[in-house]
Amino acid sequence: MQYQRSSLLFSEAEKVIPGGVNSPVRAFKSVGGTPIYVKSAKGAYLYDEDGNKLIDYINSWGPMILGHAYQPVIDAITERAKKGTSFGMPTELETKIATLAVSMVPNIEKIRFVNSGTEACMSAIRLARGFTNRDKIIKFAGCYHGHSDSFLIQAGSGAITFGSPNSPGVTQGTAKDTLLANYNDLENVRSLFEANKNQIAAIIVEPVAGNMGCIPPKKGFLEGLKEICIENQSLLIFDEVMTGFRLAKGGVQELFGVDADIVCFGKVIGGGLPVGAFASRSEIMDYLAPLGPVYQAGTLSGNPLAMEAGLTMLTALNNNPQVFKSLDEKTAYLDNGIRNILLKNNIDHTINRVGSMISVHFDANPVTDFESAKNGDNETFKKFFHGMLHQGIYIAPSAYESWFITDALTYDDLDFTINAVDLVAKKL
Ligand SMILES: *Cc1c(COP(=O)(O)O)cnc(C)c1O
Repeated sequence: MQYQRSSLLFSEAEKVIPGGVNSPVRAFKSVGGTPIYVKSAKGAYLYDEDGNKLIDYINSWGPMILGHAYQPVIDAITERAKKGTSFGMPTELETKIATLAVSMVPNIEKIRFVNSGTEACMSAIRLARGFTNRDKIIKFAGCYHGHSDSFLIQAGSGAITFGSPNSPGVTQGTAKDTLLANYNDLENVRSLFEANKNQIAAIIVEPVAGNMGCIPPKKGFLEGLKEICIENQSLLIFDEVMTGFRLAKGGVQELFGVDADIVCFGKVIGGGLPVGAFASRSEIMDYLAPLGPVYQAGTLSGNPLAMEAGLTMLTALNNNPQVFKSLDEKTAYLDNGIRNILLKNNIDHTINRVGSMISVHFDANPVTDFESAKNGDNETFKKFFHGMLHQGIYIAPSAYESWFITDALTYDDLDFTINAVDLVAKKL
C-alpha cells in the first residue's frame, strides 16, 4: 500500500491544524506513521486518497453501524438540506426522533438533544448535581465520557480519594469533585461512598466499557452500582454513547436488565451527523431549563439535518431488530476466527467481546479493568496494526480502542480479515 498522498496531505494539515488533526487519536501517535486521508466510503469500505480500498472496522467510531453512505440517511439529509439547514427554532422532526428514542429505550420518558457525546455527559452530570444538590461524582479509571473538565481526571496519589487533573487547564477545584474508582470493583465504590457521605450526586459508568478496549461488566457489577445508588440517594448514569442503539435497541439497560437514572447517547443516534442526547424520567428531566433551574442550551442542538439523519438511523434499527442478532453473529464469527489464528501461532492474547464491540489484547491474562488493559504488549499491537493495514484492513490506531463492527460487512469480508490475521500473526 502506498501512502504518499496521505503523507503530503498530513504535512499540509500540520501547518494549520494542531497536530494536523481535529481529534487526537486520528494522529496515529500510539502506532506511529501518518494518518490515512479518506476520499470516500461506502458500505464496509473506505477509499483513501492514495487509491487504496480498506475494510473498515472503526466506522467513524461507531455511528456507521449499517455501513458508510447508508442510502436512506443520504436520501433523507439530501432532501432536508433543500429546505434549510438550521433555524434556531423548533421543528416537528425533533419531536419525532424524541418519541422514537423514548419508545426504544427502557426507563426514559424525556430526552434532550445536543451536538456530541461530550456535551451529553457534561450536561448529564450537571443535571444530576442540580437534582441531588450534591457536588461529587464517581467515574471509573479507563472509562471515557468526552473531554469536559470533570472527566479529564486521573487517580489521585496516596491517601487522597479524589482525583487530580490529567490535562493542564483542568483545575484542582474541578478535580476534587471527581472520585476515581476501578472498573468492576464494587468494594472500591462502596468505600468512596463511606468516605464521602451524602456528597455524591452520581456514578457515571460505561455499562460495557469500550474506551480501554472492550471490557464487559462482571456479573452483578451494574446491579451492585444500582443498589449502592439507591441506598445513598445518588443517581446512576449510564454513558451509552458507544453502546446505545448498538448492543440492543434499548442499549445495555435492555441487554442486561439494569435500570439507570440518566442515560447518555451519541455516535449511532446521529446516523453519522454530530448528535448527542441525554435522557431520564420526567421528574429529573424537568429540572432542565426552561422548566427547571439547571441551565443547558445549544444554538445548533436539534439541528434539522442531524435530526433527519438520526431519525432515519433509529427508524431503520427499530424496524429491523434482527440487525442486532446479525451484528452479534458476525462479530462472534470474527472473534472465533481471530482467536484460532492467534492460538495456532502461539501469540499471547485475550479477546473481549460484547455483541458488536470487540477488542484484541496482546496479553494472556484476563482484561477486566484499566490496570489489566495497560498490560497489553503495545509493540505487538503496533506491528499488528500496520500489518493489518498493509493487508487492506483498518482497525483503530490505538490498543485501547474497541472495534466497531458494521452490518455492511459480509462473511467474505470477515474471512478475508481472518486470513489477513493469519498472514500478520506469522510475523508478530
Ligand atoms: C465517544 C464517547 C464519548 C464522547 O463522544 P463525542 O461525540 O466524541 O464527544 C463519550 N462517552 C463514550 C462512552 C464514548 O465512547
